[in-house]
Amino acid sequence: TITVGVLALQGGVIEHLSLLRRAADYLSTSSSSNDGKELATLPDFDFIQVRTKEQLAQCDALIIPGGESTTMAIVARRLGLFDQLRDFVKVQHKPVWGTCAGLVMLAEEASAVKKGGQELVGGLDVRVVRNRYGTQIQSFVADLKLPFLGEEEAPFRGVFIRAPVVEEIMTTTSGSPAEQEVKEGAASASGGQQSERGAAPGDDIVAVRQRNVFGTSFHPELTQDVRIHVWWLRQVLDAARHGDLVAL
Ligand code: GLN
Repeated sequence: TITVGVLALQGGVIEHLSLLRRAADYLSTSSSSNDGKELATLPDFDFIQVRTKEQLAQCDALIIPGGESTTMAIVARRLGLFDQLRDFVKVQHKPVWGTCAGLVMLAEEASAVKKGGQELVGGLDVRVVRNRYGTQIQSFVADLKLPFLGEEEAPFRGVFIRAPVVEEIMTTTSGSPAEQEVKEGAASASGGQQSERGAAPGDDIVAVRQRNVFGTSFHPELTQDVRIHVWWLRQVLDAARHGDLVAL
């Protein structure tokens, strides 16, 4: 059994759990992995809400949902989860996906934060800017072209609610390889539809991956489109099989 947790301190927890279940159902009826190889047996998935150290320790992979990153950080600190979250991401290198506020939590740096800053988990060598498109009322939907889903795939309807974007991919201390990894995983939003109030994403980086850490500015869990959850669960399966090892 592979246990996938959704950090349930605050934010869109139930929505992720429901799409994860649908994605797992989809995977059990389609039998190929990301590299097209047949899967002999698909392990069972267990999806759990994570509020305690014990629950986090059970997880093989974790989603940090959307919500409010400052609030989430305060609650995580109070529950004493921060060090364990950092260990999960940066020492154990388990697969983690952050959506919106979750992406903020997974960034090494965040700008447009109040004086005194806010605590971050980190893991992605990027600086995000919070609330890039304005306030709640300026929320919008835009069609995104996401190369990692497959070049010929239909656009993904991205829901942007006080969304952050990646404003800078930082050079890591280990040199260019890691930076390259981020860039390869970066998907920019193109063909964004102009909504009445919100700005279109244009060429903003709204999805990024560095090794085990994945982040999206938008909220796939607020759509009925299961593709990104399926893609991510396949990454989780690969990580469970091969760890950090990637066949090139
Ligand atoms: N603006 C929020 C933050 O910075 C994120 C909003 C969201 O998750 N929808 O934490």
